[in-house]
Amino acid sequence: MTAILDGYTPIVGDAVIDHLRQLAAPLKGLRVVHVNSTREGGGVAEILNWLVPFKQELGLEVSWEVITGDAGFYQCTKGFHNGLQGSSVTIPPMLLRAYEQTNADNAERLRPMLEEADFVFIHDPQPAPLLRLCPNRKGKWIWRCHIDLSRPYRVVWKYLREFVAGYDASIWSLADFVQPLPHPLYLIAPSIDPLSQKNRELYPGEVEAVFDRYGLDPELPLITQVSRFDRFKDPLGVIEAYRLVKKFTPVQLVLAGGGAADDPEGEEVLREVRHAAGDDPNIHILLLPADAHREINALQRASTICLQKSVKEGFGLTVTEALWKGKPVIGGDTGGIRLQVVNHHTGFLVSTPEGAALRIRYLLKHRDQLEIMGRKARSLVLDNFLVTRHLREYLTLMFATMHPGTDRIEL
Ligand code: UDP
Repeated sequence: MTAILDGYTPIVGDAVIDHLRQLAAPLKGLRVVHVNSTREGGGVAEILNWLVPFKQELGLEVSWEVITGDAGFYQCTKGFHNGLQGSSVTIPPMLLRAYEQTNADNAERLRPMLEEADFVFIHDPQPAPLLRLCPNRKGKWIWRCHIDLSRPYRVVWKYLREFVAGYDASIWSLADFVQPLPHPLYLIAPSIDPLSQKNRELYPGEVEAVFDRYGLDPELPLITQVSRFDRFKDPLGVIEAYRLVKKFTPVQLVLAGGGAADDPEGEEVLREVRHAAGDDPNIHILLLPADAHREINALQRASTICLQKSVKEGFGLTVTEALWKGKPVIGGDTGGIRLQVVNHHTGFLVSTPEGAALRIRYLLKHRDQLEIMGRKARSLVLDNFLVTRHLREYLTLMFATMHPGTDRIEL
């Protein structure tokens, strides 16, 4: 019996859970290591938090390792992140050396475990050089790219490609992001855990309590964006949209965010956001601790509309989280948001603050539409973006990677 998984049967049904058990049976006992660069903050940590215990419960021996570095390393990898998502960045050779040295230092610690593992999943560019640093590896190594690589700044991608080309396979969130590489490429969209603190149903009163806790007005419509303070998430565009809406109808805005341990630019962006918000009492900038999952859950549920006005977005788990709570999302017309915001059905895709403002006003005025879209939003997530689908695809990929060149796999 697998106790954690059993909890999901009321949501997805018995057949889905049985299927997962069958898929996992031939993989039992395999040693799997996931490596990323932060244990909290951001979507990757969010996913690993459920993925690791799920795989463990299905009988795999899974561990999650985090590489750590100094300020130079994080500055470099933030530069990669910006460059891979299209900004023209200059990364000085000194920072590249810090990147490679940090990986070499972490490899000293992790090598025995990584070389022995049957599967190693390396998340994003931060730990990508580890493959080269483990020359006696036994297992399959898979690079999981969580970011929007559709139009990378070429210099940055050329440098990183050298590290990822040698992997046995790579996983991407969207076909648009895929870059040519000499190994099998898999598409797996991320997902959310409907039973996590972030997404589970809350007790009566918990949602209403956020109005008091954060000084919000229960009578005013609430629009919310939950995001790290990152320029790609366009918090300034959100404030602009809010101001445009406010000219016509009273409304309040929450920008909720915290930092991620591997994101050194957050403070600077937060300063810009505070400056833009000025002394408007209806803009609430909430700096939440990394474990404020239940608070974010309540805030999303308390919101009339959720926003994710990103200009680049690998996937946007915040979008999935809001849709699951029956909130239409007004999202930037980019990357993974396009997979989730089905224009006019589960929300609206927008490219400008004016566009966002127009759609906010529409939904505030047409509450019946807001309800209908909210129902479609939840059902889109139920069908496509829950952990069970994600886990099924991971297990299938592992099976396929163990049987390369096989046309037909009997399970
Ligand atoms: N998040 C959080 N606290 C914050 C900001 C974000 O817990 O202050 C969570 C958010 O709920 C989501 C994840 O971090 O689960 C962000 O994932 P997403 O894919 O939206 O963006 P990323 O930060 O990975 O670019």
